[in-house]
Amino acid sequence: MKLLQEKIVQDGKVLSDQVLKVDTFLNHQIDPPLMQAIGEEFAARFKDAGITKILTIESSGIAPAMMAGLVLGVSVIFARKRKSLTLIDHLYTASVHSFTKKETNEISVSKDFITSEDTVLLIDDFLANGQAVLGLLDIIEQAEAKLAGVGIVIEKGFQPGGSLIRERGIRVESLAIIASLENGQVTFTEEDELQ
Ligand code: 5GP
Repeated sequence: MKLLQEKIVQDGKVLSDQVLKVDTFLNHQIDPPLMQAIGEEFAARFKDAGITKILTIESSGIAPAMMAGLVLGVSVIFARKRKSLTLIDHLYTASVHSFTKKETNEISVSKDFITSEDTVLLIDDFLANGQAVLGLLDIIEQAEAKLAGVGIVIEKGFQPGGSLIRERGIRVESLAIIASLENGQVTFTEEDELQ
C-alpha cells in the first residue's frame, strides 16, 4: 500500500535496527483518513471471505480494525490486556509475551462475542515475533470459530512472526512489509517477493 509506505518513510522514526516508532499516525496520535484507507484496503482484500467479526487487541489494533469493520459492516472486538471489573468470567484467555515491552499479558475476550458460528478476521498494527497473533489465534480456536485470515498494518519481515503464521497455512495480508531498519533507513519488501 503506497500511501502507507510513504507515511512510514515520512513520519516513522527508526529507534533501532529492530524497532520503528509510528506514534504520529498509528500508535498514539491517529490519522483518520489514513486509517480509513487502511480499513478500505483490508475490506477489499477480505471481501469474499464471509467475515462476520473482526478481532484485534488493545490498544493500537483498534483504529485499523474499526475502519475495516465499518467498511465490511461487521462488529469489532478487542481483546483486553487487563481484566476489567465487568469482565470477570465467561472468558476466553490466552498468554501473550511482548518482546518489545518485555512483559507477558493475559488477554481476554468475552465468550458472548465470538462463537462457533463466526468467521473471524484478525487485525493488528504490527507483526514482529507473532506472539500477539498467536494469542488471538488461540482464542479463535477456543471459540471454535472459523479464521478468515490475518490483516496487519506493518509487518517487520526480518522478524519471525510472518513465516510462523504463514507456515500454518494461514492467509496473512500485510499492508506494508519492512525488509530492514538498518542504518536508520526503512526498506520495504513487496508482497509478491514473499514466497
Ligand atoms: P509480536 O507479538 O508480533 O512480537 O508484536 C506485536 C506487538 O508488538 C504489536 O501489536 C505492537 O504493539 C508491538 N510492536 C512490535 N514491534 C514494534 C515496532 O517496531 N514498533 C512498534 N511501534 N510496535 C511494535
